[in-house]
Parts: sequence; structure tokens; C-alpha cells
Amino acid sequence: MSGWEEKVRTVVPYVPGEQPAVTKGLIKLNTNELPYPPSSRVMEAITGLPGESLRLYPDIMEEPLLSRLAERYGVSKDEIFIGVGSDDVLAMAFLTFFHSDRPVLFPDITYSFYDVWAELYRIPYETVPLLPDFRIEPSDYFRENGGIVLANPNAPTSLSTEPSGIEDVLKANPDSVVIVDEAYVDFGGETVLPLVPKYENLLVVQTFSKSRALAGMRIGFAIGNKKLIGYLNDVKFSVNSYTMNRTAVAAGAAALSDEEYFKKTVNKVIETRERAKEILPGMGFRVLDSKTNFLFVSHEHIVAADIYRALREKQIYVRHFAKPRIDNYLRISVGTDEEMQALYAALHEITG
Ligand SMILES: *Cc1c(COP(=O)(O)O)cnc(C)c1O
Repeated sequence: MSGWEEKVRTVVPYVPGEQPAVTKGLIKLNTNELPYPPSSRVMEAITGLPGESLRLYPDIMEEPLLSRLAERYGVSKDEIFIGVGSDDVLAMAFLTFFHSDRPVLFPDITYSFYDVWAELYRIPYETVPLLPDFRIEPSDYFRENGGIVLANPNAPTSLSTEPSGIEDVLKANPDSVVIVDEAYVDFGGETVLPLVPKYENLLVVQTFSKSRALAGMRIGFAIGNKKLIGYLNDVKFSVNSYTMNRTAVAAGAAALSDEEYFKKTVNKVIETRERAKEILPGMGFRVLDSKTNFLFVSHEHIVAADIYRALREKQIYVRHFAKPRIDNYLRISVGTDEEMQALYAALHEITG
């Protein structure tokens, strides 16, 4: 190894789901995007941007997105932090709030970016095993730690934890920041936002990537006590003041202005998901009780890796994690009804 290489901050990066070129016939159920386009108001807002405005740096307060978020979630503007997708928000939150010698805690099976940020920032951490049925046991988090991160609903398990369980974790941990990653909460989970006024150490993180069909626009946000948000902004402004570009701010604000479309598309996904929960067991699948826009399933006879490969040959992409405890499961994003019909037909052939 060369001398300079010894000084490099090395890290094993997160591996996102594949983004194959959009080709006809390919069914993409591998990264939990919404199968429907965003509200038409989003494209109107983007194309309506005066080209001249791009000459100028964007507004550091991300208006009008900030005001719309404050209105929508009933909080004040200084209780909101906006970032380039919730991955950016979470990365900033790890950097800001996890700065002690004690280990940050998160489940052994959860969003696989958490341990990557911990490694990148040299934050000590310990994973806490989920219960055998993949649920989170709140009392497992009643011990000394440097911070806590819980995805609710959790990914890739798709299961949700009751807000009362999260509150138990908050009550037991007044001296740590507790981050609740609610990337999927709009699909039937229950948000802990009502707990924000009660716990100044709670940071709730959400995203426009899933329920608002804007994964390509990169918009995420966090809501928490204004002291917490202040610390987060200090770190953000010490890295890059202008994270949100003008197009994303306009698109995000426009998406929030169309609540009717939001509800319609989210409800459609929920309906399709509930139908899948009835259909898949008929083909020998065990399906966890998803409160998200994806299904976490395993088959009674055929190993997941084989189903994954067979689906891929049929141009249907799902996600398989070759990790302990979950290597016999597949994560399947909920698509349109047509896409799901094609999935069922393919699975029928594969499972015989
Ligand atoms: C998708 C996802 C995110 C990140 O989404 P962004 O596109 O960066 O907003 C964060 N947490 C979980 C659990 C996710 O599944």
C-alpha cells in the first residue's frame, strides 16, 4: 500500500438496488419506487421555472417547500430540516448527533445504509437482533448507548412498530437522540410526529421518494425540536449550504399542493398490496404483514435466490439480500395491477 493510501478514509459503500435502463417489458419491483408518476402539478412547476432563475444560487431556506411542509405537518419552520433525499438527511443526522464513545443502536435487520454511515464517520455501533418474528422489542433499547435509529415501518421486513413502543424507547433514553426513519409511513404505518412536542431528542425523518413518487428528484426532510434542527443546520451549513436545487424545491412544493392525488395513488398501492397478501400464500409464499409499498416473502419449498434468478430471466427485477436471517426472503415492491398480474403469472410457472 502506498503512503498516501494509508491516509485514505476507506469505507465499504452501500449498494443500492439496480437501476437498469428503462426497456419495454422490464418489470422493476426492486427499489420501492411508486409505480405511478408524480402529480401533474410537479411537471408544471418544473417547466414553469424561469431559466433566468438558474443563474442565481437557490434560497438557503428552501422556500416555498419549507412553508408547505410546515403547513402540511402542522409544525413551525424552525422544526424542519430539508435534504437531498432522506439519505442525505440521515447522513447529516448521524454526523451531527452521534458523537460519543458509546455505541449507537439499531436492529440487525434494517436499512443497510445505517452501518455504512456509522463506518464512514467512525461511529461505534451495535446491532440489536430483531425478535424471531422480525419484530422490534422496545425494551432491547433500554441500555446505555450513543444514539438509536429505528426504521418504522422497518425495511426490508415491512413490519411496523406501535408508536407506544417507540415512546417507550424515548422514555428510557432521554440522553440520546432517537432517529425514527419513516420512509414508508404513508402506506399504513403510524407516524410518531405527535411525539415531537413531548421529546426534544426525537428526530422523525421522511422522504418524497416513495409515497410522493419523486425518487428521481431527491427530497427528504426531518421534523424535530428546533434545538435539534438548529444543530443539524449548523453541520449542513458546514458542508454545503446549497444542497437543494431550485428544481427540486419547486417540484416538492408542487407535490405537497396536490393532496388528493397523493391519497389516491397511495391508496391504490395499499389496495394492490392487500390483494397480493391474499394471492401469494396460495402459491406457497409466507408473506409478512406489510405496512409499506413492498412485500417481504419467503417460499415454503423453493429457495429465494432461485426464485430471484428465475424472475430475472423473465425480466422481473425484485430484491434479494444475501444476509444472515433473511437470505431466504425476497423483497418485492408493489407495482401496478398489471405488473402484479405479470408477477403472479411468472411465480406460478416458477413455483409450479
Ligand atoms: C428508501 C429509503 C430511504 C431513503 O430514501 P431517499 O430516496 O434517500 O429519500 C431511507 N430509509 C429507508 C428505510 C428507505 O427504504
